[in-house]
Amino acid sequence: MATKRGVSLNSPALTYDKGELCIEGVSVKKIAAQHATPFFVYGQKTLLSNYQEFFGEAQMAGLPRPLVCFALKANPNKELLKLLAAEGSGADIVSGGELRRALESGIPAERIVFSGVGKTNDEIALALNCGTNGVYSFNVESIEELEHISVVAAKLGKVARICFRLNPMVKAKTHKYISTGNKTHKFGLLQKDILKAAKDKKHWKHCKLVGLSVHIGSQLLDLKATGSAIVTMGELARKLPHELEFLDVGGGLGVAYHPDEAKKLPAISTYMALVAKSLEASYFGHFKVKPPVRVVFEPGRRIIAKAGFFVMSVLRHKVSEDQRFLIVDGGMNDFMRPSLYDAFHDLVPVKAPAGKKLPTHVVGPICESSDCFAHGRPMPAMKSGDLLVLSDAGAYGFSMGSNYNLRGKPTELLVTGEQDIRVVNKAQSYEELR
Ligand SMILES: *Cc1c(COP(=O)(O)O)cnc(C)c1O
Repeated sequence: MATKRGVSLNSPALTYDKGELCIEGVSVKKIAAQHATPFFVYGQKTLLSNYQEFFGEAQMAGLPRPLVCFALKANPNKELLKLLAAEGSGADIVSGGELRRALESGIPAERIVFSGVGKTNDEIALALNCGTNGVYSFNVESIEELEHISVVAAKLGKVARICFRLNPMVKAKTHKYISTGNKTHKFGLLQKDILKAAKDKKHWKHCKLVGLSVHIGSQLLDLKATGSAIVTMGELARKLPHELEFLDVGGGLGVAYHPDEAKKLPAISTYMALVAKSLEASYFGHFKVKPPVRVVFEPGRRIIAKAGFFVMSVLRHKVSEDQRFLIVDGGMNDFMRPSLYDAFHDLVPVKAPAGKKLPTHVVGPICESSDCFAHGRPMPAMKSGDLLVLSDAGAYGFSMGSNYNLRGKPTELLVTGEQDIRVVNKAQSYEELR
């Protein structure tokens, strides 16, 4: 972690140049002179290098024909998806809207996996009708879902490619709202139910079992549960009376939002070594001739979180006896993670701060007390009009935004490799609000 003038810069895309904050070398002040705050800015170099590192390390770990399916719910911006599509990325989608967005961005149906417990018949039909054979896989989360897919596929004269999402009954060490791998969670199927359905011929007329998947949660920094979940999946795969085409190890790899998390953060190479070791022990190692099974990944946060920033202006400050407030123009409707998960995000002043820091509540304009980006954070004195950057905002930022308080969604900008600034999504006007 680089520390300059007492400011933590836990994000590789951020630097101070002559006392001014830059994102991938472009001055934030310069960007804000052309675009009204609040806005999101993404760094193309960071995004692409994150993807390339992830894919490259999967190959280096010897995993066969890795397919990296970026989780669209982390960030569905079409221009960013086009960049990933050109790199060969696939998509992990959870709705018909995300399916259409992925296809429109140039991600082919053969590289799309469809997750989620509540796929509707219309969404199933859409996913069967795209590409030549429909999506690469429906990641099925209940037996009724399998039955519904069968009915829709029969009606359309198609064969649906099916993957069972395993609930491995592990407890991932993460926030309870983003933990998904235990029996009490709505996600995935239990081993015994998968085995029973796999052996029941009635399911396999209009459906073909081609894979297994597992995804135990998000923002994972401790990979113990991840390893055991993958081992459980590999062992189950050997018991199935079907020839599988892939094993999908899900997403969930965390990032360091807080400097303390930087010490715990698993390197991508460490993660890939764990995936390789777990699959070798539970699956590949048990065959004389390795089966032609590829490994699928569904990362979201690790690819995009550190490539995005949310830029706000200070509107005013106020002091209520011993409580100091900095009121900014971005709100929880724009960036929800602090309100929803009590998540920590670094807040970096654009002018390199001089002078003493005092504990400050950094709050937005929304009429909710939870509209707070930081409680009692040591902050330098800032005045009306000063710019403030919230770091690591690329994942679950814009995509979780709402129009609460009848506020339009903010602009999204991209700093390209040539240090140009492109508008990749215009701010929503009042007329566009519903
Ligand atoms: C959300 C989600 C992901 C992506 O999770 P990240 O933590 O962003 O990597 C992957 N797969 C499934 C099924 C998901 O629901």
